[in-house]
Amino acid sequence: MPMLKRLIFIIVCLALLALPLRVSLSSYLEIYFLDIGQGDAIYLRTPDGVDVLIDAGPDATVLQELGAVMPVWDREIDYVMLSHPDLDHLGGMLDVADRYTVKTFIWNSSDHDSALFKLFQTETLGSRQTLWEGDVLYFGCCVSFAVHWPDRTTYSRYSSNNASISGIVRYGSFSLFTGGDIEKDAERALVRSDLPDIDVLKVSHHGSRTSTMPDFLADTAPEVAIIQSGRDNRFGHPHQEVLNNLDIAGVQVFRTDLQGRIHLKSDGHGYSISRD
Ligand SMILES: [Zn+2]
Repeated sequence: MPMLKRLIFIIVCLALLALPLRVSLSSYLEIYFLDIGQGDAIYLRTPDGVDVLIDAGPDATVLQELGAVMPVWDREIDYVMLSHPDLDHLGGMLDVADRYTVKTFIWNSSDHDSALFKLFQTETLGSRQTLWEGDVLYFGCCVSFAVHWPDRTTYSRYSSNNASISGIVRYGSFSLFTGGDIEKDAERALVRSDLPDIDVLKVSHHGSRTSTMPDFLADTAPEVAIIQSGRDNRFGHPHQEVLNNLDIAGVQVFRTDLQGRIHLKSDGHGYSISRD
């Protein structure tokens, strides 16, 4: 190999080696509320490069969205969480499992009668972890997920929505509550357990009037709410009552049905939100 070509080859190799290091060593927690239509899919990338996906939306659209926000060289997701087995959260999960190497699936061990869920159970056997109230999981060095619901002994008494895994993602003093599709029964139990104040609320059940009670907002005191719902969805989400509750509580609202993908970035103290 001529000298110049060899030099270029060495420089390119060094640059490629440095790329993952440079990209993964950030001081920011990045959270993307993906534009996947009617459903939930939230991608988190921690400062030390741990990838987390909470729910996978209704279909394979989640792959396009992940392709747009994940580093191109990254084909591995550390944690994929299924908040509960309904299709608008489960639908894209096996597509994600086909495209990416998923190290750990997290679920609440609820059962569901769909063929897709049975397939999910079969395909994730051996790489599944169950989370319950009281558990704390660390995503890498500095981001925690404290589970506040459901309770191991009582979850089977609740509906699928109400048994959604619910908890607080925390990075430094920044906090985000995410609770799948929990409804008033679960919110009442959470209020009784006296949740800490949060910065950002992922509004439960796509802004349905079944959730986001004034008592829950008073207990958690969020500054910002993110609503994941599809454009012109057939349920009329988000419902006006919920928008009113958020307005009265003085909470600033962002909506994927109106704004598309929403990007939240935190340095562990403050946070910023943009369309991205
Ligand atoms: Zn849902």
